[in-house]
Amino acid sequence: MSDFDPDDDYYDDDEAELVDCPACGAAIYEEAEQCPVCGEYITHSTSPWAGKPGWWVALGMLGIIAMIVAMALS
Ligand SMILES: [Zn+2]
Repeated sequence: MSDFDPDDDYYDDDEAELVDCPACGAAIYEEAEQCPVCGEYITHSTSPWAGKPGWWVALGMLGIIAMIVAMALS
């Protein structure tokens, strides 16, 4: 590896764990929220909703919609 190759920055840091981007396969920092190569957002947990506030918003909206439907049908 060349010390002058900027691409090697991803591989030279011993403190950061590297994972493969699920979208493009690039080696990215495990703690990265977004792939710097393709822009895909990275999830680290087996729980699909962990660290995903959007899920809670969606669940809240579903609850509101359910209430509206329930009121409309009553
Ligand atoms: Zn990627």
